[in-house]
Order: sequence, then structure tokens, then C-alpha cells
Amino acid sequence: MKIYDVIVVGAGIAGVSSAYFLKQRGLDVLVVDRAGVASMGGSFAAGAFVSPKIGKGSKLQSLTNEAFEFAKNFYIEHFPEYFKQTGVIRIPKDENDAKQFQKYEEFNKSKREWVNQEQLEDIGIKKSFNSFLFNEAGVCDAPNLCKAFLEDIDYQQFEVKNLVYKKKVWVIGEYRAKKVVLATGYENRFFDMRYMGVKGTWGSRGDYETSLDLDVSMHKKISISANIDGIIKIGATHEKEADICMTCSGKPLKPLFDLASDMVDTSDFRLKETFCGMRAGSKDYFPLLGSVISVNEMLERYPKLPKGQRLTEEPKKIKNLYVCNGVGGRGFVFAPMMGKMLADNIVDGKEIDKRVNPDRLFLKWCRKSKDLESYR
Ligand SMILES: Cc1cc2nc3c(=O)[nH]c(=O)nc-3n(C[C@H](O)[C@H](O)[C@H](O)COP(=O)(O)OP(=O)(O)OC[C@H]3O[C@@H](n4cnc5c(N)ncnc54)[C@H](O)[C@@H]3O)c2cc1C
Repeated sequence: MKIYDVIVVGAGIAGVSSAYFLKQRGLDVLVVDRAGVASMGGSFAAGAFVSPKIGKGSKLQSLTNEAFEFAKNFYIEHFPEYFKQTGVIRIPKDENDAKQFQKYEEFNKSKREWVNQEQLEDIGIKKSFNSFLFNEAGVCDAPNLCKAFLEDIDYQQFEVKNLVYKKKVWVIGEYRAKKVVLATGYENRFFDMRYMGVKGTWGSRGDYETSLDLDVSMHKKISISANIDGIIKIGATHEKEADICMTCSGKPLKPLFDLASDMVDTSDFRLKETFCGMRAGSKDYFPLLGSVISVNEMLERYPKLPKGQRLTEEPKKIKNLYVCNGVGGRGFVFAPMMGKMLADNIVDGKEIDKRVNPDRLFLKWCRKSKDLESYR
């Protein structure tokens, strides 16, 4: 029976990016998803804006902006049909925020220019403050981009119910592989990965038909895309404790639409489609990329870890198992760089960047999390 080099579980942007870069490096890859390629989950729902993060130079900002540079160059070079470089204007939320923007200037290395209120009005943006225009930012066609990543890669649609490691090979249903990458978004039912602290944040957004002449995207409290083929996307809500079925009714779009109406002329907007999905974020908002710690084995070897015991070696890993997850509200920004890092690690043995390696969260989880209270 054929043995793949890698099976990637999950065909959202994290899974397809991993698969793409692994395939580019010559590995034989199979992608599996229960619902189709970006047909459910966060990657189906995403407005897929790709823009830098503004701020005062935090570590997360600097990683996000490295990922932004990587992603937009990668999309332009390899998938220009699915990435429209519309530019994204970042508009301060209020007067206080406008003052902060002055301070953000020195920390934002991405190409940027100021646009003043008059210029914004000329474009059709109402009541705003001096803003940043990121000319190189843009918007992806999320599902079609994900499908294009998999053009030369084997794909099967089924739900993975369990994974078994037998004789140095992973067995998933009738398929076999030397390595497995889990890119299942906010869900994980296979291994104890609680230390990564993945949590879902539900979100909705809408596609609106309109003839409004708007050729730039923007973000204030919400995001509004440029008009692409008669459609403007408005997104997105953020709900931590969501009742998923309720949010599909279209009602969550009302406050978004009201905010959009304060920003641009929405008088002829007609809701065409509502999208809902779950973002998967890590505890510290950095992505999660790399091997998975064998939690049971570690707690057996170091029973006092929850009481502060120190490790005298690298944490033991589950063999040939990887995760690409935790890309939060910026999956289309982070995923290409994560896919490249994963391929460099698997093929060349290059160390995973510590900022995204999930190991960073393990000891803290052992010592602080309620999950292990009974051990203390
Ligand atoms: C409303 C909304 C707006 C957003 N806007 C943006 C934006 O503008 N820009 C941006 O960069 N990001 C945005 N995001 C975030 C982005 O969508 C996510 O970060 C990204 O899609 C996460 O990708 P993923 O591949 O990790 O997860 P997902 O896309 O959720 O993919 C996980 C996949 O795993 C599959 N799966 C799970 N379990 C199994 C199993 N057992 N067997 C088989 N398959 C399985 C699921 O079917 C799913 O397809 C938005 C998200 C939402 C919800």
C-alpha cells in the first residue's frame, strides 16, 4: 500500500499552506478534510484581508508584519488571481486612537503613507481622522486561493476519526503516511494538546452587492473591502462564547452594517451572503507550529512539573506528529510563512522559530493551568 510522506488533516489556509510548501520541497502529500477545501471553518468565513498590524513594536506586531511581507509577496508571485492588492486604509477609531497613530509611525516598517481627511472624503470615506494607507495590502478570495494551493496535491474528503501510529507509520482510515500535520483549526480530539490553549472565536461577515465605486479596502473597528466584481465584503464579528446556530441567522451583521454605514455610503448595499466560522487562537495569540509534546509521557517522567519541577532535557514529542494552528484572526497573513517554516523543519531539520513553537506554552500550562490542579 502507498505510504505518503505526509498527510495533512484540515484543508483550511493553515493546512493547504503546509501542504503546498511540503509538496514544493518534493514530498508526497495527501490533504484530508471532512468538509471540502475551505468549505467550512475559519477559512471559508474569512474576509481574508491581508494587511500589517499597527502598534508600538510588540513582538507579536513584528512577527505579524514579517508574515505580512512574506504572504503578500508570495500571493503576488504565485497566486495573483486570488489576491487583489487593493491597498488597506487603517482609520483611527476615535480622537484618542488618532493621537496613538502618530506614535505608531516609527514601528511600522511596511510601506505606508498618511492620507488626510480631505483625501479620504474624495475616496468616499466619511467622518474620519488622518489615517495610514498600506498600498501593498489587499484581500484574498479565500476559498479559491485555498483550492489553488492544492492544484497538484492529492486530496480526500472524509472525517478523520482517529490516528494510529503502527510500525513507524501513521494510519488514517485507509491511508498511510510517515508524518502527520494537524491543521484542524479550533478542534482537536486526537491528542492532549491543552497546553497550546487553542480557543475558538466565532465570527460572521457579509458579502454585499453594490455599485458603490470603492477601489480601496479599509479597517476602522470593522473591515470593508474594495468593490471587487460588484461585491463589497464587510466583516467581522468576534464572539468568544458563541451559540453557533444563532449566529448564522444574519442578525450579527446588523451592528457591522451600521458601522459600515458610518464609514461609506451603503444606501444601495444588498446582502448577498452571510459567512460564519471559528477562528482558532492560541493562549498568547502567536501561531502554533511544530511538534506535539507527549503530555502523558512528560507527566510520568516529571510528576512534579505542576509543582514547578525543572526539565533537564527537551520535552518528549509524539513521533512524526506536527501541528499548524493558532493563526487566529490573521490566518491569511500567517499561514504561508508557517507553511514554509514547517517544510524547512521537516525537510532540512531547520529549527522552528521559538516564537511560534508550541513548546513555549508547556511549562507555564503545567504550573498554572486549572487543567492540572489535581496534581498540585
Ligand atoms: C468572520 C471571519 C473573518 C475573518 N477575517 C480574516 C481576515 O480578514 N484576514 C485573515 O487573515 N484572517 C481572517 N479570519 C481568520 C481566518 O479565517 C483563520 O485564521 C483561518 O481561516 C484559520 O485557518 P485554519 O486552517 O487554521 O482553520 P480552518 O479554516 O477552520 O480549517 C480547519 C479545517 O479542518 C477540518 N477538520 C477539522 N477536524 C477534522 C477532522 N477530524 N477530519 C477532517 N477534517 C477536519 C475542518 O473541516 C476545516 O476545514 C477570519 C475569520 C472569521 C471567522
